[in-house]
Formats: sequence, structure tokens, C-alpha cells
Amino acid sequence: MNGNKQQVLKRCSICGGPYTDHGHNAAPAFKGMCCTDCHVLVVLPARLEQLRTATTKLHSKMTGMTWELLHPRMTAEWLGYLPGFLRLDDPRSAKEQIHERYISGWHPFQGAMTLRPDDKLKYPGDPLITPLARSQLRDERIVLYEHDWVAIIQPDRSFEVARLD
Ligand SMILES: [Zn+2]
Repeated sequence: MNGNKQQVLKRCSICGGPYTDHGHNAAPAFKGMCCTDCHVLVVLPARLEQLRTATTKLHSKMTGMTWELLHPRMTAEWLGYLPGFLRLDDPRSAKEQIHERYISGWHPFQGAMTLRPDDKLKYPGDPLITPLARSQLRDERIVLYEHDWVAIIQPDRSFEVARLD
């Protein structure tokens, strides 16, 4: 060492390269700080994507379930009674829980409904049915749609849909 104060070598948490300025917060792409190049090329796009896909999440302490509101006009009230039918501390499947707690029970629709990769439902001759909210009960996904349709989707994409009106 030549006696000068050694400049702390800062390394970008994204590319690993050194930088000398103050650096930038790398969140949400990475932890820590990053260089200006990575800030522009990696971090800012990640933040935009996060904004674009932002959804409102409602967590219920009572049921342990978190509901994501997927539609801009969706509100907690629109969820209706559905959140009350499902509890995380109940070991039974979503279908069994709804069947017990919903006054009319769970009666799967027997028509030719298909489930698209984006979780929209399609009934032949009808417009696509759009998801309004979704939740996760262990490995089962529960989706609420327009017109009171509810789908229970398994990890292998097999599903049942019923109308809970
Ligand atoms: Zn970098």
C-alpha cells in the first residue's frame, strides 16, 4: 500500500463488474447495489414489469388465504362470499370445503368448458370468460370469474368449474 486511503472497490451485484460512483439500488432485480449500465438495462425494465403486473392482494388472517384482485374494477365486495368458503387450516380440498360451506354445494358444470393457459374460460360460441380474482389453497388454484363462475385448477391443469351465484 502506498499510504493513500484505499478506495473501496464496489462490485455490481448484477454483472459483478466494479463501479466507482454511488451505484444504484438493484431491487427488485437483485439484492444490493449495481452499476449504471445494469440499472438501465436490467433494473428499470424489471421495475416497469412489476408495475405493469401489479395486482391488489387481500390477505385474510381469519382464513389464511390471500386473494389477488386481477381486474382493475375488482373490489373486495365483488369477491362476495367466496373467500369465506376456503380456509388454509382446513386440510380438505377446495372442492370439499366449498361443498360444505356454500349453501348450494359444489356442483361442477358438465358442459364443454375449456381452460386456456391464461386461465380464461371458453365455452363454445360464447366470449371468453375473464378471471377477476384468484387464490391458492396449497397446490390448488381457485379463480373467480365474471358471472359468478368459479374454477378449481389442479397443478396438472385439470379443473372443475361451477357457478356460485
Ligand atoms: Zn453491472
